[in-house]
Amino acid sequence: ALTTGIVGLPNVGKSTLFNAITQAGAESANYPFCTIDPNVGIVEVPDVRLNKLTEMVEPDKTVPTAFEFTDIAGIVEGASKGEGLGNKFLSHIRQVDAISHVVRCFNDDNITHVSGSVDPIRDVQVINLELILADLETVEKRIGKVEKMAKQKDKEAIVEYEVLVKLRDAFEEEKPARSITFTKEQEKLVKGLHLLTWKPVLYVANVSEDELLDTEGNPYVQKVKEFAAKENSEVIVVCAKIESEIAELEGEEKEEFLQDLGIEESGLDQLIKAAYSLLGLDTYFTAGKQEVRAWTIRRGTKAPQAAGVIHTDFERGFIRAEVVSYDDLTAAGSMAVAKEQGKVRLEGKDYVVKDGDVVHFRFNV
Ligand code: GDP
Repeated sequence: ALTTGIVGLPNVGKSTLFNAITQAGAESANYPFCTIDPNVGIVEVPDVRLNKLTEMVEPDKTVPTAFEFTDIAGIVEGASKGEGLGNKFLSHIRQVDAISHVVRCFNDDNITHVSGSVDPIRDVQVINLELILADLETVEKRIGKVEKMAKQKDKEAIVEYEVLVKLRDAFEEEKPARSITFTKEQEKLVKGLHLLTWKPVLYVANVSEDELLDTEGNPYVQKVKEFAAKENSEVIVVCAKIESEIAELEGEEKEEFLQDLGIEESGLDQLIKAAYSLLGLDTYFTAGKQEVRAWTIRRGTKAPQAAGVIHTDFERGFIRAEVVSYDDLTAAGSMAVAKEQGKVRLEGKDYVVKDGDVVHFRFNV
């Protein structure tokens, strides 16, 4: 399964946020394929469309789709040189598909900052630099192998060499790989290097309880936003402390608490949605009397493989998919009416499933 790693310096609020994640946690019985590991938190992906479909179909049960956050502790300055738990930290990051980078944007004199003062950009750079240095080492090793072949006019080697040098130059200026623009062909080569700074990043600005409503007025948050924009990354603002309180509530209680706070959506829900989209994931639905359920696919997945997410038999025996878009279905008000209106299509094995499709698979067993 795809996973997002949570990173950040000590005392920025990572554990508080991760605890909120596990507290809000999905009922794992519904997700037997998810990892069981104390460092992995399974979250349900909030989706109002699922509520609407439930109201319409009135099924026996409703199951949201889920994905994982992995808590990656142990970053310190010097990690790329193997300081502290450095190597372990880097190898954990190598295994995740995207990074949620928690940054301290709250003042609290009672909570020591590892560097003595609150300075989100410096913090971000400490971690990013460790990742950049690790990538620089990767790239330099590769240059050592490719340079000679490039000099002998090997065509492929010349193309790769160009990419490697571009990366090395960026790293030497302390810029992450994701801040560089490559051609499609070059991107393939970059992907093959498995660089840490090529992974998409979401910055999570952790603000104080009293500043959650006025993030525009928080200079730390503004700085993080400016910084993130330069490397094409996104920022989510949360108050980890409040999130841990919200996570203990459900349903109406949760709604009321959010209303009292004056916010529409919890920071955690925003984070989950943003991470989901950062991973390039889409949701399709199945909607039967027994169960209305959301399923996760990578953007661009074709119908048989999308069916395979439900069960491998569905992929193997795939015949056709009956598909109606969420918008068409809810506008029609029921599957029967949608069919009368000709909104339900029969699609074959080359159909690319779209976000929001409501699908019924036909298959041979
Ligand atoms: P970690 O080392 O990054 O995992 O940080 P922790 O989650 O353990 O948080 C460090 C300290 O900061 C703890 O005492 C938390 O209660 C506190 N803390 C975390 N988030 C917030 C926050 O949003 N506001 C305030 N005031 N304190 C927070």
